[in-house]
Amino acid sequence: MTTKIRATKEEALIMLNAQKDYIKRGNTAIKCPRCGKFLEYKCGPTGESIYCLGEECIEVNTRGI
Ligand SMILES: [Zn+2]
Repeated sequence: MTTKIRATKEEALIMLNAQKDYIKRGNTAIKCPRCGKFLEYKCGPTGESIYCLGEECIEVNTRGI
């Protein structure tokens, strides 16, 4: 597992839009606001997260709303 950095507020907003796309359509055209790589969505028992596929890049964790 790669290290993930907390996203800034502005980055988190972009990431959450990508997460909405994933939930709605299963994919997103939105790229990482920090490095431009693809974003990946993960849904687990402790909540959901949207994260960058780049190493040591940003991640946003959300709990079920
Ligand atoms: Zn990134």
